[in-house]
Amino acid sequence: MKILTATATAQGRRHNDFNYCIEGELVWIGLVCATDRRNPDGGCGCGRAFAGMSSHRATTTAMIRDVATDRRRYVSALRASLEAQRWPAAGADDLADGLMQLVGDWPVGTVVERRLDEVRVRDWPRHA
Ligand SMILES: [Zn+2]
Repeated sequence: MKILTATATAQGRRHNDFNYCIEGELVWIGLVCATDRRNPDGGCGCGRAFAGMSSHRATTTAMIRDVATDRRRYVSALRASLEAQRWPAAGADDLADGLMQLVGDWPVGTVVERRLDEVRVRDWPRHA
């Protein structure tokens, strides 16, 4: 199934890109703090970042990958990550559904970026 994951691909297109995640780890779209609330290029970085579910670090680029899992395991991975970071885990099902819906229309290999509440395509998949 298609899942949003961290990638270094297409980093550097924006001057304030960063990537502290593990390549391929699952990411989610975390909350934005007061510093970046109105500006994805704000001083913090969370307004343009995806949050790594394993590393608990962040990246400005994410890739849609085909991961051999299912919804149940995806929800459980999200829940475990939220709990580990002391976020309320009750919303893990909705979060998983939202992320699955978000990436549903994009082909595997698409690289996306985040501008606050909006996730946009940065790079379409390359064909070998
Ligand atoms: Zn922030």
